[in-house]
Formats: sequence, structure tokens, C-alpha cells
Amino acid sequence: MALTDRNAVVIGGGRGIGAAVARALAEAGAGIVVAARTVEAIERVAAGLRADGHRAWPVRCDVTDPHDVQALVKTATEYLDHVDILVNSAGIASSAPVHKLTLEEWNTSFAVNATGTFLCTQAFLPQMLASKWGRIVNVVSVAGLTGSRYVAAYSASKHAAIGFTRCVAAEVAAHGVTANAVCPGFVDTDMTTESIDRIVDATGVSRDQALEAILETTPQRRLFTPEEVAHTVLALCDDNSRGINGQAIVLDGGGLLA
Ligand code: NAP
Repeated sequence: MALTDRNAVVIGGGRGIGAAVARALAEAGAGIVVAARTVEAIERVAAGLRADGHRAWPVRCDVTDPHDVQALVKTATEYLDHVDILVNSAGIASSAPVHKLTLEEWNTSFAVNATGTFLCTQAFLPQMLASKWGRIVNVVSVAGLTGSRYVAAYSASKHAAIGFTRCVAAEVAAHGVTANAVCPGFVDTDMTTESIDRIVDATGVSRDQALEAILETTPQRRLFTPEEVAHTVLALCDDNSRGINGQAIVLDGGGLLA
């Protein structure tokens, strides 16, 4: 696939899935702005891409801050000229039973996972509509489609992100733009390492036992790689994927057979 005339902003591109998405889009030829809060991380990812001959710039942005998001649009547009692809991969996870879940944890989950997705989409959408071509890919989760124990804040905020994706898809359908969600199961990133840490802390089981409990949630009994998720994101950016709109594409090895 050639994305040589395309430019992308990857939010949450400093590590994990976002970093793999940034690389996949860059290797397809797109210019990339890598955004997240931690400057060293986004600089490292962008420098790695540039070292391999790709066009890439880091821009610091906290997606919970509307001013940061507006500044990101301005800087990204200066670097890239126009933004055709937005990948919302910023996310945070936490766990607590509902009776112990704090309002702060609930609000923080929504601020990043749902409101951040809304703010970034709203900010970049006008230029996609103006050019009559655009791809919005929200990295959500199977937790956005199902409920399970101890993840109410994460799961509810991811359900919100999927609902939002579907509404955006309905609005942009006639304008050359698509909006889709990619919904992985557990991926081998820092987020999953932290989930394992929380299981160990809460239950006293070993790290191996905590990992085993996680693997029991997938029929393939493995963690997915960030590159697998990036592959699906990249596919959605293809011209020939323009018919795929408003979908929540599950990447969990067949755990959720909906
Ligand atoms: P990760 O390794 O923890 O990376 C998360 C990224 O989001 C980092 O770049 C982080 O950078 C950024 N981020 C967090 N809060 C932010 C904020 N307020 N503003 C801007 N950037 C922010 O996690 P990951 O596994 O790659 O997850 C990426 C996405 O996939 C998330 O939405 C996650 O919910 C989803 N997902 C993950 C899994 C999994 O098993 N790992 C499964 C399904 C879905 P800074 O901290 O530097 O800002």
C-alpha cells in the first residue's frame, strides 16, 4: 500500500501500539506526527523513523487538554501541510471493583479514553472533510464491546469511544472520510505489564499466574503484538478500505464471536 501522499497524526505514538502504528504508516510512505505527553518517548520514536529515512516529527500533547489539542493541530499542520489520517491510540487503564472505584479514576478514564478521542477527532476532522479524504482509526478494545470484572471505568469509557466512532462514521460517510475502531484483546505492551502488576498486587499470585489468567481470556492463549494491531490500522487507511466505516474490528483471536 502506498501512502506517499498522505500524512498522519498518531496520538499515543510514544510507545506500544501507537509506536507500531507510527512505524507501519511511515513505512507505507506517510509523513507522521507522533504525539503523547512524554517528550523523550515521542522524540525517540520520531528519531527512529527519521533515521530510517521517513518523515516524522514529535509533538507533545495531552489529549485531556483542549488547548494542547488545538496547538497539536497547528503544529502538525505546519509540519505536514495537511493531515489525512488520525489514529487515536492514547489510552489509560486501571482496575477496581465498582464498590471501590473512585470518581477520580472514573473521570480520568473518560477524560483520556473517550473525551480525548472526541477532542482530537473534532480538531482534525475539518481538514479531512475539506479535502474529501480522511481516515480516523480509534484504537479501542474488546472491553469497549463487552463487560468484565474490575474494569468498569476502562470498559465504560471504551464503550463511549465506540459509540462516538459510530456517530462520526454516520456523519462523514458521504464525504470521503471513514471512522473505525480497532478492538484488540491483550497486547504485549506496557499497559498489559501494568495490568499484570495490578493482579499481582491485588491477589498475591505470581507474575506467571497473573499472565496465565490473562491468557485464559483468549482462545489463542497468547498476547497480541503491537504490529498485528498496526497491520489492521494500516489496512483501514487503504483507499480500497473506503467501504469499511463505523466498524469495531475485533482482534482477539476469536474470543468474542459477535
Ligand atoms: P501504552 O503502551 O500504555 O501506551 C499508551 C500511549 O498513550 C502512550 O504513548 C502514552 O504516552 C499515551 N497517553 C496516555 N495518556 C495520554 C494523554 N492524556 N495524552 C496523550 N497521550 C497519552 O498502551 P498501549 O497498549 O499501546 O495502548 C494503546 C491503546 O490501545 C490504548 O487506547 C489502549 O486502551 C488500547 N488497548 C490496549 C490493549 C493492551 O492490551 N495493551 C488492549 C486493547 C486496547 P504518555 O504517557 O507519554 O502520554
